[in-house]
Amino acid sequence: MDIVDLVKSRDPNEREFHQAVAEVIESIKPVLDRNPEFRSANIVERIVEPERVIMFRVPWMDDEGDVHVNRGFRIEMNSAIGPYKGGLRFHPSVNLGILKFLAFEQVFKNALTSLAMGGGKGGSDFDPKGKSDAEVQRFCQSFMLELSRHIGPDTDIPAGDIGVGAREIGYLFGMYKKVRNEFTGVLTGKGLNWGGSLIRPEATGYGSVYFAAEMLAAKGDSLEGKKSLVSGSGNVAQFTMEKLIELGSIPVTFSDSSGYIYDEKGVDREKLDYIMELKNVRRGRVSAYAEKYPEAVYIPVDPEADHNPLWDHVAHCAFPSATQNEINEKDAANLVKNGVLVVSEGANMPTTPEGVDTFLDHDILYGPGKAANAGGVSVSGLEMSQNSMRLGWTRAEVDERLQMIMKNIHKTCLDTAEQYGTPFNYVNGANIAGFAKVAQAMIDQGVV
Ligand code: NDP
Repeated sequence: MDIVDLVKSRDPNEREFHQAVAEVIESIKPVLDRNPEFRSANIVERIVEPERVIMFRVPWMDDEGDVHVNRGFRIEMNSAIGPYKGGLRFHPSVNLGILKFLAFEQVFKNALTSLAMGGGKGGSDFDPKGKSDAEVQRFCQSFMLELSRHIGPDTDIPAGDIGVGAREIGYLFGMYKKVRNEFTGVLTGKGLNWGGSLIRPEATGYGSVYFAAEMLAAKGDSLEGKKSLVSGSGNVAQFTMEKLIELGSIPVTFSDSSGYIYDEKGVDREKLDYIMELKNVRRGRVSAYAEKYPEAVYIPVDPEADHNPLWDHVAHCAFPSATQNEINEKDAANLVKNGVLVVSEGANMPTTPEGVDTFLDHDILYGPGKAANAGGVSVSGLEMSQNSMRLGWTRAEVDERLQMIMKNIHKTCLDTAEQYGTPFNYVNGANIAGFAKVAQAMIDQGVV
């Protein structure tokens, strides 16, 4: 049976997982033809099956004393090249299929970083939005009480993702430390004065901009003076805008799940400080920006509409940094029509397969998430190294390593795409290079 059909027949409801698997399978056919040992060891069927799936009940009490029950998950997808590594997502949409897609992507992404990290992902359908600090704390403690049995600094090292930022990592770490009676680097994204790395909060956004800069440089171009569309307003979006401003690009949009801001004059340093305070301290909505800066407009977005107007503005660059499948075929066609040159994915799988085809058909420089947003997990890997050595590198040292890693990932993707006869196809480059590394390690380690 065809592997995608097999995956679908085993878990028919896991739509996003099917999508992620189909994309990788499509790219790696030539590698399988060149390496018959991958086929004879049945690597593909093994790689699409998680090594372990942990699901658990997370009961917690709200401020009124009412008891709620959420679901907790950890997918330990593949440990061929290192301990499981990948974020935790707290969002009402979280289910097994979404986490399996994220864990699957993570395996190839981590392989591209050149650091020794396997792939995992986890989270809960808990929604931190609108909850008090005390409720978030009680939830995180209940979640970690169970998760702590399964993770460890040499086994599985979670980090943040949607809905899991510095506050949540703090509560999770505190509970792990208490239950296990050990102070280790079991989570990344920690606070600076208790084992965190400089540049970790910035790393995914910065990395996605570095990747775009590399793609443009490969064509003799740069970000200087270019207009950029950014989606999202969380961790990744904020630091994407910060680096864009630093490199002379002009971010003109950002969003949340209710709508988006279009600021024709562009977001500058002062406006970005306002956004960071609004989102991270006041936990507000982006619509407030248009009240503060009347030159900007707020446009509500209907999630059921056939396209998102955020992607229908004239710009040279697009940085989807919110969530999966936020650019569909029509959005991609609008970006192409409006002259987009480069798309760099801060989010995981933000473009539908039809959208990806549209970009590739029009020779847009398209950096898929598993390459373009690998900066976050890379600096998580650097945080693990610093924890093991019990020392901390300076901001400049970490940023330099991050830039070097993003440059190397870009070169690996570019060279691999070229070797396989599809120049500038970063999708093929990322999938083939990531897969080949993990597949070879699996062969070396036998049938386990
Ligand atoms: P945050 O929780 O900090 O921010 C998420 C942003 O996306 C918010 O603006 C949120 O809006 C918006 N959003 C979330 N879900 C939806 C949705 N269903 N529809 C529309 N908008 C939505 O998360 P991050 O910035 O950390 O993550 C963003 C993306 O980047 C995700 O795809 C994540 O997997 C990916 N990523 C993150 C990494 C990291 O280091 N944090 C590393 C690599 C990838 P609202 O406030 O309304 O929910």
